[in-house]
This record gives sequence, structure tokens and C-alpha cells, in this order.
Amino acid sequence: MNIRVRQGDSFWYYSQLFNVPLPLISDSNRDVNPQALQVGQIVRIPGFYVNFYTIQPGDTFWAISNRLGFNFDMLQLLNPTLNPYALQIGQRINVPVRVSSPIVRGRRSYDFAAMMNDIRQLIEVYPFIVNRKIGDSVMGKDLVELQIGRGTKRVHMNGSFHAHEWITTPILMQTLNEYLLALTNMGSIRGLSMPPFYHSVLLSIVPMVNPDGVDLVIHGAPNEEPYRRNVLAINGGSTDFSGWKANIRGVDLNNQFPARWEEEARRKPSQPSSRDFPGTRPLSEPESIAIADLTKRGNFDRVLAYHTQGKVIFWGYQGLEPSEAATIVAEFSRVSGYRGVRYVDSFAGYKDWFIQEWRKPGFTVELGSGVNPLPISQFDQIYQENLGIFLASLYM
Ligand SMILES: [Zn+2]
Repeated sequence: MNIRVRQGDSFWYYSQLFNVPLPLISDSNRDVNPQALQVGQIVRIPGFYVNFYTIQPGDTFWAISNRLGFNFDMLQLLNPTLNPYALQIGQRINVPVRVSSPIVRGRRSYDFAAMMNDIRQLIEVYPFIVNRKIGDSVMGKDLVELQIGRGTKRVHMNGSFHAHEWITTPILMQTLNEYLLALTNMGSIRGLSMPPFYHSVLLSIVPMVNPDGVDLVIHGAPNEEPYRRNVLAINGGSTDFSGWKANIRGVDLNNQFPARWEEEARRKPSQPSSRDFPGTRPLSEPESIAIADLTKRGNFDRVLAYHTQGKVIFWGYQGLEPSEAATIVAEFSRVSGYRGVRYVDSFAGYKDWFIQEWRKPGFTVELGSGVNPLPISQFDQIYQENLGIFLASLYM
């Protein structure tokens, strides 16, 4: 919600008036100097939108603000040209509405367009989100990173490395939305107050690493050539792409990282394939390059790569994982019921590379159980299972 600064206003005052944490207001207005507010300048208030109210007989500003449950000065602020003592019946005035329910509805076929639309709406309501493009997919779709918070503990999460595991994207997006709601409304999740985490954690989320692949699984072969011809050829002519795991060029993005890649390559397909082909060299694909570059710059303390399925959390690599990882995964297990698994006979994955390069905790979280793509009917259950993992990644 946008308001216009009046004489004597301050971010601190807005924070009190709207009951929104001050840092969220500051970070929603990074282009505004709070020490030098100009009268008439536009300031964004997170967590609110503007609605209209039509004046009824007998209404006064006082009565309206009392009845609708907000401060008298909110109405003055939102209706600067209105004389509160000369209200006209039928006149429309602006009233603030606190956003109290999620924007993201994750329980549906969640393609790239659905995600981008939700990101736009989230940024409109929560302008303190930092939204950055970290690269382009093969077909030119934006690879988006969302950052939330000011903390020194840097936690990265990503989803949909694998195309037919796209349910991980709406899980991440809806969880993020619940967190944003609790931040602006000074709320709790499972009894845990969220606003303090804005100060302690910097959360980095790339909700969809492989947008071309996700759209392929959800919508079938793209119209654009040469992609259409290529995916049909790789898929043996079949138009059923439900088992597709790779990116649009038939490279498995989670087999692309320089952590014993050569060993992985020897036992995996040597040609583009719907799954498991590690490419002709490590980090050959724009999507894996973007994630690797982000991770090199990001100085992350821990990373969670979301996949499906199996209700397991992989947390080791070649004994290079720090002992802290065992403590964290024990807590993830406790809150989700998922099983921690230290070693698995595979290499060249994102978390393998992260552990190898930084010796910090890296996790592959395998949500849900069944055959990929998991049915969307599992969404609510997976959401609840992962919510504990999400919270633990903040407080652990
Ligand atoms: Zn996967």
C-alpha cells in the first residue's frame, strides 16, 4: 500500500500506526532516506492494501475507524484531501486493509507463469522482498532469487531442479507466503514468533531452478523450435513428458556439479535423456551455472535443495560434511518424520558440491512419497511436513 508523507511523519510513526515492524518499512523503501522524508513523497507500507468504503448516513471518521478497527489517523493519512467533518453520504473513502491470508495457492498445477504471477503479487504486498534475476533458462525464462531478511545467518533453499518434482516450487512459495504474513503481522508459526528471524536470518530462495522442464511436464512439448523437435526426439517420439527430470536439453541439472562428476558420468547416460544425463562437462547448462554462481557469491551457511520423493533427507558427502549437519538433520527428522540418510551412492549433485566446497551443512530434502510427479492431492500433507523443516532451518 502506498501513502504520501505528511509534515512530521516518520517511518517510526508509520510502524506504530500500522503495527508493522520498522525494519520491514525501511526495507520496503530502500530508495527513500528515512532521515529526509519529503512532504508528498510516496512510502510503501507492507502487509496492507487499500480498499474503498462508502459513507453511510450518520458516519463520522471516528465511527468508521472504530467500527473497522483502525486508528483515526490511518484514515486521515489515506484521505489527505478529505475534510473529516464534511463527509457526504455515498462518498467513497480509502480504507487500509491488513492482508491476513495467503496470496499463494500452491495446491494446483504450478507452472512458471503461476510462479511469476505470485512473485509479482508478493512483491506488491511485501516490497521488502529483494527479487533478483540470477540467470536465464535455456529457453530464456527468468531464474529468480527472492531474498528476505537482514540476518548474518544465510540460508538458501531451491526447488524444481528436477522437472517432474515441480510440487517443490509451490511448497516453497506458499511456505514463504506464510512466513511473510507472520513477519508483517507480528505473528507466530507453530508457536514460534517470526519477526525476530528477519534480523537473524537472510533467506535466499530460488523456487524454480528448471522452469523449462517444469512447463514441459505440466504442458507438454513447447511450440518453439528447436526445443519441440529435440524433446520429442529425446523422448522417443512420445508426447508423455510426465517422467521428465532433466532441463529442456535433456541434461539432469542435479548431475552437473563438479563433485566427482567424471565418476557419475561414467555410469549415467552419455546422451541427452529425460533423466540422469550429466551433460558433456560439469556446469554446461545455464540453470546449473546460475545456481553455482549464486552459491559462490552467496556465502550461504546452509543450503536445502528440495526434491521428491521418499521422505528422506540426504545430508552427507564423502565425510566432508560438518558435525553440525548431523545435529540439524536430527531436528529436521524430529519435526517432519522424515529419515536422515548420510550417504547415498551418487555424486555431482548440488548438495554434494556445496558440502565439498564449503564444508557447511547441505541437504537434499526428498518431500512426499509415491511416484513422481507426486499427485497434487499430497500438497497439504507435504506442506505440513516441510513447515517444520523450514522453521528448523531458521532456528537451528
Ligand atoms: Zn530430484
